[in-house]
Parts: sequence; C-alpha cells; structure tokens
Amino acid sequence: MNAPPAHASSIAPEDTAAELVGHWIDGRAISGAGRRHPVYDPATGKMTRHVALGDVQEVTQAVASAKRAWPDWADTPAVRRARVLANFLALLNQHRDELAAIITSEHGKIFSDAQGEITRGIEIVEFTCGIPQLLKGDFSDQVSTGMDNWTLRQPLGVVAGISPFNFPCMVPCWMFPVAIACGNTFILKPSERDPSAALFMAQLLTRAGLPDGVFNVIQGDKAAVDALLEHPDVKALSFVGSTPIAHHLYQRGASLGKRVQALGGAKNHMVIMPDADLAAAVDALMGAAYGSAGERCMAISVAVLVGEVADKLMPILAERTRELKVGNGMDAQAQMGPVVTLQALERIRSYIDAGVRSGAKLLVDGRVDPHTGEPFSVPGHENGFWIGGSLFDHVTPEMQIYKEEIFGPVLACVRVRNFAAALELVNAHEFGNGVACYTRDGRIAREFARRVEVGMVGINVPIPVPMAWHGFGGWKKSLFGDMHAYGEEGIRFYTRQKSVMQRWPGSIDKDTGTDAGFVMPTAR
Ligand code: NAD
Repeated sequence: MNAPPAHASSIAPEDTAAELVGHWIDGRAISGAGRRHPVYDPATGKMTRHVALGDVQEVTQAVASAKRAWPDWADTPAVRRARVLANFLALLNQHRDELAAIITSEHGKIFSDAQGEITRGIEIVEFTCGIPQLLKGDFSDQVSTGMDNWTLRQPLGVVAGISPFNFPCMVPCWMFPVAIACGNTFILKPSERDPSAALFMAQLLTRAGLPDGVFNVIQGDKAAVDALLEHPDVKALSFVGSTPIAHHLYQRGASLGKRVQALGGAKNHMVIMPDADLAAAVDALMGAAYGSAGERCMAISVAVLVGEVADKLMPILAERTRELKVGNGMDAQAQMGPVVTLQALERIRSYIDAGVRSGAKLLVDGRVDPHTGEPFSVPGHENGFWIGGSLFDHVTPEMQIYKEEIFGPVLACVRVRNFAAALELVNAHEFGNGVACYTRDGRIAREFARRVEVGMVGINVPIPVPMAWHGFGGWKKSLFGDMHAYGEEGIRFYTRQKSVMQRWPGSIDKDTGTDAGFVMPTAR
C-alpha cells in the first residue's frame, strides 16, 4: 500500500474538510439549517468538524431532486451510464489516498486499511461498468406460433441507502454504484460519525459527469432515516448496521410496500482444527480480530479451538496480542488505530468487565498497558479513544461476551472437544454473517462449508468478503431480506423484472382470427 499523501489534494480542502459537513442535493453542497452533531478525530479525541443532521425538510428536497432526475437517467442507455461509472472509477483511483486520509481522520482505522476498503469499493464500481451485460434479458423465440416472450429488468425509481460508520466508502459502494448503474436515482444517508467520505464521493461523481440529482447525500441520524423510510417516493432501502435497526427497517419498510435489504450485526467464529497450520491460523486471528480495532462486520470475535489446539495456540496468541502496535492510523508502524468514539470505548470496556464477572479468563486486558500496567494510552495522543487488544480464554456459550456483538478488539476463545461440537456451536449462534475454518483436511473443509449455517465461509481464509460479482450477505439475524448486497443479487434488488409476450398481426391465428379466447391460452 502507498504512504499517506504528503500534501493536500486537488479537491479543495474547504470542499471536504470544512468545519460543517453538509448534504449534497441536486449536484451541490447544502449546509442544512437544522441540528448539528460533532465529528471527532478518534486518535486525538478532538472535535474536528460538525455534521448537519437532516430531517424531513432536507429529505423531501433530496427525494424531489432524485425524482426529477429519474426519468432521464432511467432512459439513458446502460452503456452511457456505464461510461459515467468508468469516469468515476478513474477519479476514485486517482483520489484514493485523499479519501483514505479522510476516512482515517474520522474513523481511526490505519491508513493502509482505509486504502484497502476503498479498493474493495472500487471493485464494485468496476463490476458495475459491465452493466449492459448484467441487465441483458432473456428471450424465448416462438413460444406459440408467431409469438415470442422476453424478459427485461427495469429500475425502481428513487432508492436510498443507509450505511454504518465502519466502512464509510466500501459499504456505500455496495449500494449506490449498483443502484445508479441500473438506472435508479439514489440518496445516501451515511453514518453521522464519519460523514465526509460520502461528500467526497458525491463530488467525484459530479466531476465524472453524473447528472444532478442522480446521487444525493443526506447527513443525519434516526430522523433522516425515518423520513426516508416513510417517504412514499422512496421505492427501496438498503441498510447496513446493527441488527435491531436492520430488523425495524425491514419490518416497517415491508409494511409500506418497499423493497428492503437490511444487513445486521455479527459474531464471526474461526474454527481451528488440530491439523491446521497453527502459524497461519495465529496470523489470521491477529488480523481478523484486531484489524480495524475489531470494528468490522466480518471481524473474527470468537476463536473455536478444537481438541489440543488451545494449549498450543493460547500462549502464542497472548504474546502476539500484547505486542500489538496500537497508534494513530496515519503512523505507518501502527497495526491498529483507536476505536471510533468515547461511547464505543466505554461499551467495549464494560464488555470486558462483564467477561471477567462471568468467569472467563482474561489473558490480555486491553484496558491496561501490558508493559507498564498503567491505563492504556498512546503517548502524545492521551485524549484519543484508545484500547489495546483483549484476549479471553475459557469462554462459554451462555456468557454475554460470547452471545453479543462487542464490535471492538476483544477476542473470545472457546474450547471444544471435536469438529462436531465446533459446528454445533457455530450453528447455534443467532448471527450468521461470516465464519472461517482452518484445517488441512479436505473432507473436514468440505463438510464445514456444506453444513455451516452462515452466509459467508472462509476455508483457511479469515475474512471471506465475497468478490464484487458474488454478492455479500449473512444468514439469520445478520441479514433481513432475500437478496444480498452487490453481485447479481444486487442487480436484481435494484430492478424489477418485466415479461413481454408479443406477436404481430400477420401471425394471429388464421382459424379464429381474433383474440377473444375464453380458455387459458396455451401454445399453438
Ligand atoms: P448503527 O446501527 O448504529 O447505525 C447504522 C446506520 O443507522 C447509521 O447511518 C445510523 O445513523 C443509523 N441509525 C442509528 N440509529 C438509528 C435508529 N434508531 N433508527 C434509524 N437509523 C438509525 O451501526 P453502526 O454502529 O454505525 O455500525 C456497526 C454495526 O453495523 C455493527 O452491528 C456491524 O456488525 C454492522 N455492520 C454490518 C455489516 C454487514 O454486512 N452485515 C457491515 C458493516 C457493519
């Protein structure tokens, strides 16, 4: 990965790093008159910006703009829509490091990780550049004498996406490039905790030649989400965030007749079999549990240690966790940055308390510096939202730290007797987002992949985020709705199928000469 950019970008700082992060409606920035919310640099704990919190008024304005833009955009040939996305792709590549620096400054993740999330977003944009092929319909010739039947997929209209704080570029890219490639117009409601990336991408889209109103950003919180949810002109909602909100949006959206895909929380397990390459498994666990401070929906938060694995692996894992390099995400040496807010820090600390109270063995306590025993901090950044990696052994399924999503750098290790017990454990959990199995045994690997009740599976792959053309989504309480994000299911989500049967006068049945048939039509 590249080093952080030394100088400011060609996009003026006043456009993206302004004191107030506003909305983007009808191709221009709008401050918004309503409430404001502070945005922090998690590494310093300083408030760096304000974000506008949109409500019904701004949402109404954005929906009206998107609705006006829709007929022309829907009529624009798919190949020309693809060219706009190709321009956007080039700009995203060109400005990747500036965007990554913005993400690090508001989210806290290390710069190379921010670059990585943008790369995964870029892959979705690359996928959507092939939209003419993806929208190609089916055609059946001569379904009856002189009659053909074909299907085509058409856009829905105005659609909206609500994204979480943890991937301010990648998760919106699961949604808007697919939606607009299909001919919809889009309103993005990013997280109020790191709102600037969305605005940066809006500017790039406008520079790429996207007509005004096709992509809009409404900053905000629950009020903006509710306004989008209730608006009759919003035909579909994509949500990514925590399970209770995902579930609520799914239920309410469905009752209003909207399409909803709502991706929720996770508790991802990594099963480590006795025959696994233990060095590779430890490396994988370190990155997957502590990368991005555990604030990934595909983070591994539970290690399932089968048979004798635990006694061999735990001492190595504990040592590696103590040595984790925690620092400002712009420091090239850092492996893990701060967590996103003070509230997140307090929540994670209280989960560690709960783990200790429930009898799990805390091998490494991220709340204290492993070398000095002092409260954990990073020199020079004493007010940042810091916590080190925490490691629990002897965690059992009834404990709160096992059942609930902590969303922080806390790894819970559960010891089980054999493969069957490991599989049973994973399948009994209410979440089913991602899972991994480390083994050298092909039969075990195959059995695991077939029998595990989880949407995304890694065999010796710790974070199996599917590629752009495969689609992303968990099972059980990790996804409400039938269709996964992006990939072919993403295309289906943002379009509706129309079937056309057609014949021409010269082909009308010579015997009857009329269409006044009173029995169910069949092939003639
Ligand atoms: P969150 O649920 O707090 O917020 C997500 C979005 O919903 C934000 O835009 C937020 O402003 C909005 N929101 C917050 N409260 C709301 C309310 N009461 N009503 C309506 N909207 C509301 O989630 P977060 O903390 O930003 O992100 C972390 C969560 O997201 C974790 O649970 C993580 O597992 C999940 N996540 C899941 C996936 C996945 O693919 N399944 C991907 C990324 C994150």
